[in-house]
Amino acid sequence: MNIILLGPPGAGKGTQAERLVAERGLLQLSTGDMLRAAVAAGTEVGQKAKAVMEAGQLVSDEIVIGVVSERLDQPDAKGGVIFDGFPRTTAQAEALDALLAEKGMTLDAVVEMQVDDDLLVGRIQTRATETGGSRADDNAETLKARLKVYHAETAPLIEYYRKTGKLKTVDGSLSIDGVTEAIRKVLDGK
Ligand code: AMP
Repeated sequence: MNIILLGPPGAGKGTQAERLVAERGLLQLSTGDMLRAAVAAGTEVGQKAKAVMEAGQLVSDEIVIGVVSERLDQPDAKGGVIFDGFPRTTAQAEALDALLAEKGMTLDAVVEMQVDDDLLVGRIQTRATETGGSRADDNAETLKARLKVYHAETAPLIEYYRKTGKLKTVDGSLSIDGVTEAIRKVLDGK
């Protein structure tokens, strides 16, 4: 099963992806995690991505698509993937369609986690406190930039995937367990 988790920053995509990994043995493909690792390792990709990420802007489609393509070629991607934080632009969604077709993979569902902006600001502030500010982009100022980018660049993907008939929307303002249950229902149709 290959699934996309779609939603604004702070919607809980990472948390729900981890649960899907545990329950369904899928691979979590988080472009944010991969880019943070590249920044920490000081690779060429990391050097290009660092300032852009700190500003809450999007890393170029070319870089992100390259990172995803390489990751999908590793054997552990064959058992199913949860795309967490990718795609984030229409160009990335089109590239993903092409990559999946090329690699003989199919997309089963796109789960949209719907959360109002007001609630997200509070959640990001909590995450910044809990993680001791370990993410350079977890602060109110950067969140505003990230939300703006989400609405301008990523939200159009909701329509993109609605047209494919694969879009499933869950209420991301529920408790963590509540969202997990809602995702289980839309994926299993129960
Ligand atoms: P995330 O952990 O998914 O919130 O991503 C953190 C940051 O990494 C984002 O604010 C972007 O700067 C960058 N990033 C992650 N995924 C993507 C993507 N698919 N396209 C462009 N930039 C991305």
